[in-house]
Amino acid sequence: MKIGMSHGAGGEMMQGLISDIILKNISNKQVEDGVGLQDLDDGATIPLGDYEVVVSTDSHTIDPLFFPGGDIGRISMAGTVNDVSVMGARPLAITNAMVISEGFQKDELERIIQSMDAVSQETGVAIVTGDTKVMEHDQLDKMIICTTGIGIAPRGCITRDSSLEVGDKIILSGSVGDHGIALMSYREGFGFETDLKSDVAPVWGMVEAALDVGGISAMKDPTRGGISNALNELASKSGVGMILDEEKIPVKREVHAASEMLGIDPFEVANEGKVIMGVKPDQADEVLTAIRKQRYGKNAQIIGEVTLNGPVILETLLGGKRILETPIADPVPRVC
Ligand code: MG
Repeated sequence: MKIGMSHGAGGEMMQGLISDIILKNISNKQVEDGVGLQDLDDGATIPLGDYEVVVSTDSHTIDPLFFPGGDIGRISMAGTVNDVSVMGARPLAITNAMVISEGFQKDELERIIQSMDAVSQETGVAIVTGDTKVMEHDQLDKMIICTTGIGIAPRGCITRDSSLEVGDKIILSGSVGDHGIALMSYREGFGFETDLKSDVAPVWGMVEAALDVGGISAMKDPTRGGISNALNELASKSGVGMILDEEKIPVKREVHAASEMLGIDPFEVANEGKVIMGVKPDQADEVLTAIRKQRYGKNAQIIGEVTLNGPVILETLLGGKRILETPIADPVPRVC
């Protein structure tokens, strides 16, 4: 069997490849009782005295490198900062390994580094080490950036994606589909791309505000495979179901219009500046208020709650119910 594009696109195909080839052939996956590779969470943890060091790593292959609302530099920083953040850990530092194609423009590289620096300044996350390699122009499409994020949390205070409890409220921090639909529209050259921007942004501010209130039982950033993938992963790992109100899930007018034209479900495409949280019901309103005060959280909503048994059910705008399935793969390739 050969690897296809969908094997790297979130969803069931990628999960299959990870368990069949990767997990099966790695024997040592965990440090002490920390979160390990087998947990397939947003990051791993290394217990160290009274703390847990959180590590998360990500390779960025986005096409094109510059897109409405961001570029590969911004996404390389924000994406990794976000995976550390949704583990409930304060992100501290990031590493930056770049593989660049021969002939790449120096001024474009400088713009990309400046984008990384902007996120570093916004979040206080330092870029502490890196690596630079160059490959022949016909062997690499422009550039790949691999970032590894390091964060820290008090021992036992990690937020997992497998610890939802029945009755928890589900908070979504803002509109869905912005990144995937903006990228796809831009690639297709539809001409309405000026209205559509990626949401790529660091979520740490929202996460920190929510953790300060408390009552957060689980977190995940809905990247590849969109909220359909993230909500199903949270539910299945926690052994629970969900009932969600479609009316409460924010979809921007222009994202809705573009996804109709493209024939893509905005619930199945990547977001790069959003977070989904499970919150204890008596603290959900306070957490929501705290998130809405943050720069990227103004449109946060409580979109539903956790039920005893699966699946994830969506109460539709028309008053019906449908099962929100895990996508086979994100419909937009090379989205991050
Ligand atoms: Mg993630």
